[in-house]
Amino acid sequence: KDFAEMSLKDIDQVAKSSFPLCMRHLFEKGVGLKLDDALAFWKAEFSRKVGAERFDKEYAYSIRHNYGKEGKRTDYTPYSCQKIISSTPGVGDHHGCPYRQFSEENLRAALGKMGVGNRALEDVIDKVRNRHYQLACTLTFEAVHGTSCDAGINHPNQYFSDSKRILEL
Ligand code: SF4
Repeated sequence: KDFAEMSLKDIDQVAKSSFPLCMRHLFEKGVGLKLDDALAFWKAEFSRKVGAERFDKEYAYSIRHNYGKEGKRTDYTPYSCQKIISSTPGVGDHHGCPYRQFSEENLRAALGKMGVGNRALEDVIDKVRNRHYQLACTLTFEAVHGTSCDAGINHPNQYFSDSKRILEL
């Protein structure tokens, strides 16, 4: 199926197959991605295929509608992993890198849900214990996709686009 024809219904599916843990977490919590984050994110993804103008016409409205509200306009900067990892989210804030923020128990549960097998899961936990969060994320990517990711993960959007590329091969 052409990515440009991906409907909003499919976002759930794509979130499951291709979101890194940080985005998955935001998505699953009722907060979802904040509306503006979601718009910026999907615009970046869709525009490449359908063009910014068509995105604004055909998709932006339904994303807004889907979220059931108009968000406050805030500037959205897509942050790198490094920046996300080094920032300290406040209480009740779901942003942040789960590899750093989650308790080991919650992290194990989340990874299990992503389909990371026992062996790989221990490797991931090992990286986390050594505070190598991006390596933990990279190992997760490799486990989930059954392929190596030599470049490593350095941006949530990179995780996403690499995943799409692999799954569409
Ligand atoms: Fe997200 Fe980066 Fe953390 Fe992976 S390493 S969960 S992409 S912030």
